[in-house]
Amino acid sequence: MTQVPNYTETWNGPIIIIGFGSIGKAILPLICRHLKFDTNKIFIIDPNDKNKEASDKYGATFLKKAITESNYKEILGGIIHADTNQSLIINVSVDVATKDIIRFAQETNSLSIDTSIDPWAGFYFNDALTLEERSNYALRENLLELRKSSPSRTTAVSCCGANPGMVSWLVKQALLNIAKDTGLSITKPVTREEWGSLMQRLNVKGIHIAERDTQQSLIKTRPDCFLNTWSVEGFLFESLQPAELGWGTHEKQLPLNGIEHSYGCKSAIYINTPAMGVHVQTWTPSTGNHHAFLVTHNEAISISDYFTVRSNDEVVYRPTCHYAYRPTDATIVSLNEVIKNNYKPLKEMHVLESDEIKSGMDELGVLIYGHAKNAYWYGSQLSIEEARELAPHQNATGLQVASALVAGIIWAIRHPEEGLVEVDEMDFEECNELQKPYLGRVSGYYTDWNPLKSLGSDRILKDDSDPWQFTNIRV
Ligand code: NAD
Repeated sequence: MTQVPNYTETWNGPIIIIGFGSIGKAILPLICRHLKFDTNKIFIIDPNDKNKEASDKYGATFLKKAITESNYKEILGGIIHADTNQSLIINVSVDVATKDIIRFAQETNSLSIDTSIDPWAGFYFNDALTLEERSNYALRENLLELRKSSPSRTTAVSCCGANPGMVSWLVKQALLNIAKDTGLSITKPVTREEWGSLMQRLNVKGIHIAERDTQQSLIKTRPDCFLNTWSVEGFLFESLQPAELGWGTHEKQLPLNGIEHSYGCKSAIYINTPAMGVHVQTWTPSTGNHHAFLVTHNEAISISDYFTVRSNDEVVYRPTCHYAYRPTDATIVSLNEVIKNNYKPLKEMHVLESDEIKSGMDELGVLIYGHAKNAYWYGSQLSIEEARELAPHQNATGLQVASALVAGIIWAIRHPEEGLVEVDEMDFEECNELQKPYLGRVSGYYTDWNPLKSLGSDRILKDDSDPWQFTNIRV
């Protein structure tokens, strides 16, 4: 029988959840389990009330409204200012700009947390913006600019889901495991520079956020309905953004259509092609080598930035980092329908509920490659059956996200004066500890696989001198 974790923190002020889709619904029972608070003080805001019943069950007040650029201060301010205690804002919507919500949260001394950096509605389909302007790189640079333009000590956690989120904590634990297993004598790093230096000493060339979702839908796929295990809209937005990856110092040449940024931290590049059209090879423990989508994600940029080593302001080391996502079979069928429709969204969108899944697991971890033991996958293998046992309203994907979010909320409550933080900057051990009981099996696996081993002999673009060049990884 799976053990349910029982830690709690007390919270006296309002809790505001913006967006009540698959993640909102997954987080509510966990918040009620891990926070002691007055249920009269929990507010859920969403223009769609399809999940209202789930919110009523926990005594939340449901406001059927869309948060927009013109009303967010009034709606959120109304709740925040009606209470003398500090508020907590959890943004798990689509189409509500992370930067404005965080700025407002800090101005009102409210703690806040988000699972991705979102813009206001219309951004991803705005033809007046270039692909670069629509990139996650640009969204992240724009958010982090807040640290300079409106500095605040009030904690605001950016991108705290499974990925982005948990995977940044897993990277650090994985590095310590590799150091131990390769006999490298180290002192546990504390600062960003020390972590970068450890990764460099281990000769890590790159990291795949390697996820394989084998959950099998009980619902049959249809040409007019997109099925997924988390936000269909969120996934479509990022699939239509350019593919992006943290760009390592070992890479010899830019990929076809690869473009460097001219401003900011410059840790990443983008490929002038929608992410759903860029495929890569990767490896996960249950199925070994397979093909996956290089979907753009914030963690690819933040991890490669965090572990960059500089000497006299010159970059001397940086890992390549990107997402390699193999979604469910049903999602891949749906994606093909979108491509067939010339990238137009399908008429219906459906996130698979826990009881609409027959079997399978979400296997989500970090594949760290290039070091003395070749490659190491470290992560969570959570089955749908375990997810159901651990908490209500969960599929395996949703629980990996919601448990990271809960860990981030508890961390923010315990550390309320950290300012705007990225997950890479949080205490990874504290967060891992809080989240681990929800992750099913958490294990590390070494593999002798490398991308050259599975490239066809007729392949033209190939670099035999270094298996871990991105040119060998892209298919
Ligand atoms: P979802 O599509 O199931 O739900 C989103 C909800 O937001 C919907 O109920 C929608 O009605 C609501 N919404 C839309 N416009 C709104 C507005 N103007 N004001 C308030 N609510 C609005 O999505 P989800 O799966 O719950 O994901 C939520 C967010 O979390 C997305 O941004 C997604 O990209 C992100 N996410 C992150 C991770 C991660 O691991 N970091 C994983 C999954 C999802």
